[in-house]
Amino acid sequence: EKEAALAAASAPADSPTIFDKIINKEIPANIVFEDEQVLAFRDINPQAPTHIIIIPKVKDGLTGLSQAEERHYEILGRLLHTAKLVAKQEGLDDGFRIVINDGPKGCQSVYHIHVHLLGGRQMNWPAG
Ligand code: ADP
Repeated sequence: EKEAALAAASAPADSPTIFDKIINKEIPANIVFEDEQVLAFRDINPQAPTHIIIIPKVKDGLTGLSQAEERHYEILGRLLHTAKLVAKQEGLDDGFRIVINDGPKGCQSVYHIHVHLLGGRQMNWPAG
């Protein structure tokens, strides 16, 4: 109970993140896919030979998956569909891993919802 309260207290508000700077091209990123709604770029600290971050260009309150509402159905679908397109583009034909970290206990560090696409090596289960 105490831990849950602490976690809630440390959950950041809906403020701009480093990903806004990537969207606005204020800092460089290795972009692998972009359309009007989503952006995909290589993770700066890759955990696999292919490690790509997929984000909505407009956050609309989606600091993380835990904040999802009905109005987000379309963008949530687009994020996953983009992950599939990028997996194909990256040649991950033998499989890949999708991860969405949420909140302090999910090890989320950037509070702008994002899908991790990992591949190019054998993944292990359960995840750490
Ligand atoms: P974690 O840091 O535990 O993986 P997240 O799920 O919030 O938590 O993931 C944020 C990801 O964003 C990290 O994998 C991190 O390496 C990546 N990242 C942070 N800053 C940048 C950046 N400027 N360009 C590309 N990737 C970034």
